[in-house]
Amino acid sequence: MTRRPSFPARLDGGPARPAAPRAAAPAVAASPTGVGLASQAVRARMVQKLAAQGVSDPRVLAAMGTVERHRFVDTALANQAYEDTSLPIGLGQTISKPNVVARMIELLLAGRTDAQGKLGRVLEVGTGCGYQAAVLSCVATEVYSVERLRGLHDKARENLRHLRLPNVHLLFGDGMVGYAKGAPYAGIIAAAGGEALPAAWTDQLAEGGRIVAPVVSPGGQQALVVVEKAAGQLKHSVLESVHFVPLKSGVA
Ligand code: SAH
Repeated sequence: MTRRPSFPARLDGGPARPAAPRAAAPAVAASPTGVGLASQAVRARMVQKLAAQGVSDPRVLAAMGTVERHRFVDTALANQAYEDTSLPIGLGQTISKPNVVARMIELLLAGRTDAQGKLGRVLEVGTGCGYQAAVLSCVATEVYSVERLRGLHDKARENLRHLRLPNVHLLFGDGMVGYAKGAPYAGIIAAAGGEALPAAWTDQLAEGGRIVAPVVSPGGQQALVVVEKAAGQLKHSVLESVHFVPLKSGVA
């Protein structure tokens, strides 16, 4: 049996090895980004910041501490990956700020989980680089993630390949029509904001399910909206203002 190298490299000395000369290249040099092996500590700091900003669900904090955000952005941006900022991912799109990702997933979970603490099937509209899909894979049983731009769908596939997440299903298509084959969903989360929530989403939402999505208000501002389906009725709540890329129909 071959053992895969552990990541990050052991800093605790690890098992006894012949002593290497002190001047040997540090293990950190293995990463061209400079974030590499130190990333766990940087992520832990990001998680502390998220907690200070009010994110309290331990499952969300654990997921944010696990997924290596720096692997989802261009090498040139990797050193900004753990700052609370959105970053370009190509084709005019952006990866959301960690704080927004954590907040939205926390809203999605909102106490509705199984005995293992997991949400059921989740639909994500707007795969982008695949980062949020990876975070969702830690807290949901299945993640169906739809992207309308071929270039980003392919990029997400590439970014997620090494993680081998069997519960993440990447789909190329228009997420405005949802993804009927995976329905009904315990949660639907959108990373792009339109004028209204597409009817397909509320149709494909399970009883007791929740949608968390940015929606453009009549004043032209985007706000985070939570929709809950209970006894066949939809309850809308409008929360804080947000800035997401536009939800567009069709594929490109
Ligand atoms: N969750 C992503 C954020 C991507 S930004 C991440 O972690 O990287 C939002 C994405 O939504 C963009 O890639 C955009 O192309 C996509 N998008 C916009 N309208 C869409 C639609 N109707 N269906 C699927 N994806 C859509």
